[in-house]
Amino acid sequence: WRVLGIESSCDETGVALVECARGVRPRLLAQGLHSQIDMHQAYGGVVPELASRDHIRRVVPLTRQVLRDAGLTLQDLNAVAFTQGPGLAGALLVGAGAAVALAASLGIPALPVHHLEGHLLSPFLSEDPPEFPFVCLLVSGGHTQLMWVRDVGSYELLGETIDDAAGEAFDKSAKLLGLPYPGGPHLSRLAEQGRADAFPLPRPLLHSGDLNFSFAGLKTAVMTQAKRLPIEDASARADLAASTQAAIVEVLVKKSLAALKQTGLKRLVVAGGVGANASLRAQLNEACSRRAVRVHYPELGLCTDNGAMIALAAAMNQEAGRGTPLPPLSTGSFEIRPRWPLEMS
Ligand code: ATP
Ligand code: MG
Ligand code: FE
Repeated sequence: WRVLGIESSCDETGVALVECARGVRPRLLAQGLHSQIDMHQAYGGVVPELASRDHIRRVVPLTRQVLRDAGLTLQDLNAVAFTQGPGLAGALLVGAGAAVALAASLGIPALPVHHLEGHLLSPFLSEDPPEFPFVCLLVSGGHTQLMWVRDVGSYELLGETIDDAAGEAFDKSAKLLGLPYPGGPHLSRLAEQGRADAFPLPRPLLHSGDLNFSFAGLKTAVMTQAKRLPIEDASARADLAASTQAAIVEVLVKKSLAALKQTGLKRLVVAGGVGANASLRAQLNEACSRRAVRVHYPELGLCTDNGAMIALAAAMNQEAGRGTPLPPLSTGSFEIRPRWPLEMS
């Protein structure tokens, strides 16, 4: 299978070409990504209408670029995959419309993909790919979930956040510290210069006995501390950044270990933007190595949204004999699913 993947659920347009064959590791042939961060930064968050319009501008040029980089033509494609949901409705429509139109014009199937399944499977494109079954810690801008993954398409939710996502906790705390959007990577960089034990911050639901998360209270605690800070005191800001990161990371690590214990599995897969966090990786690596648990991550560049994970998820589903491709040259009608739990995919 040679699959073109189109991601447009939020604020990055991602297009990529993945090759997948039975018994061989899936291979990323080429990819293109356009992030809209600069455009949304002035508003402190993603403006949906601006996002949709920018996806329209980017999707065709990116597709051309990816084919050129791979040295292939449209005729070399076997399918076109797209993010069907969850995400911003207008943004999803752009990628879905482009993918369905392209597939129809080529007489090949269009393959709808669940965005979170893309994140979850993205480590299969890494140098050290996982094997099924495993526990997945999915930590992105909009989701924080622990899942029992038995195989392609078999995802059981073990626990999730009851309010904010981990990425959101990073972003909102970063905003309180005056850092630009999205704040996760900025906060992480500032934290390197700070002391993680400088501020006492809550570890919400750490001892709740289940595998759920809550980060809204942490954000409020960070706000209280940030208000007291002299804004020009760089070292105090670094301390607060480090303390915030430590609180988020500790909860993520402890709950991941609890999920491994509960399932009896010896393999952990981390996915989503927060999976790029160096402190999270370091602490998970340490905790897992002490318990003889293997831990796998996506390549750093594939933690946040990208087209490669969408192409990959479609290809892996096809290979596993799963997924219902929209028939080629169908009526041209298609569906998006802005709200769509992964267990129901
Ligand atoms: P979803 O996939 O849930 O719809 P999303 O696509 O917006 O949400 P991702 O692209 O997976 O989420 O990740 C973006 C999030 O990851 C942002 O909240 C960002 O701040 C966070 N993030 C990225 N890099 C880091 C890092 N190094 N440390 C902490 N957070 C990070
Ligand atoms: Mg994004
Ligand atoms: Fe995402």
